Amino acid sequence: SLDGQVALVTGANRGIGRAIAANLHDLGATVFAATRSVTHDVPDAWEHLLVDVTQEGEISGAADEIFGTAGRLDIVVNNAGVGEFGSDIVSESVDTIDRTLATNLRGPMLVCKHTVPLLLQSDGGRVVTVSSGLGAIGEPQSGGSPAYRVSKTGVNGLTAYLHGEYGDEGLLANAACPGWVRTDMGGEEADRSVERGAETPTWLCRFRSDSPGGRFWRDRRPIEW
Ligand code: NDP
Repeated sequence: SLDGQVALVTGANRGIGRAIAANLHDLGATVFAATRSVTHDVPDAWEHLLVDVTQEGEISGAADEIFGTAGRLDIVVNNAGVGEFGSDIVSESVDTIDRTLATNLRGPMLVCKHTVPLLLQSDGGRVVTVSSGLGAIGEPQSGGSPAYRVSKTGVNGLTAYLHGEYGDEGLLANAACPGWVRTDMGGEEADRSVERGAETPTWLCRFRSDSPGGRFWRDRRPIEW
């Protein structure tokens, strides 16, 4: 169980993030559910924080709030993301490139910047980043969506970096591909439920200090970056 542990989940108001937050709560963790708007509702049993991951001040404020109220942080789930699919790089708009990288890559980097000091005080603090097989550079990268792909390649790189830099100090950084999931982003045609998509990220959140870090996972198995 995660009794006594404290978790931060970004983009926790809907989709995969909400399902991960629910799982962590059910496992006994104190869940800080970060949403980018105060108008987003989360269950009363969760702590609610305002975090737009493109806003550094909101991220640092959230880290301060968590430390001030809970006194610790054990799990960070980088889930918030945007997906604008279809274009090739010639037709992809600058706005899409900026928004996608700011949210999906710069966001998790800033979240780590402000939470790693807290995670290092935990015995086996975990960073779980919801990535995508679309960012796996071992796979053919044709099929459009260059900003989205590069943003996910980027967070895989962030995961490898965190492992290299802090693995020896006990930080467990892992990335997960949830599969193709029926959310607003994934669409109705996707073959997986939200619960199924949340499974492997939740499992990674339950890792202990002797578990592996610095890997990319799908369905509880390591996959190629
Ligand atoms: P949804 O579109 O259902 O949810 C996205 C979540 O991210 C929402 O809570 C949204 O908040 C939040 N978000 C977006 N931008 C920001 C921001 N700037 N700051 C804070 N929160 C933000 O998507 P999914 O649940 O499907 O996606 C979750 C993660 O899973 C993403 O990282 C996505 O790339 C990844 N993924 C999804 C797949 C799928 O098939 N669905 C496949 C592979 C990876 P708001 O409600 O305010 O918009």
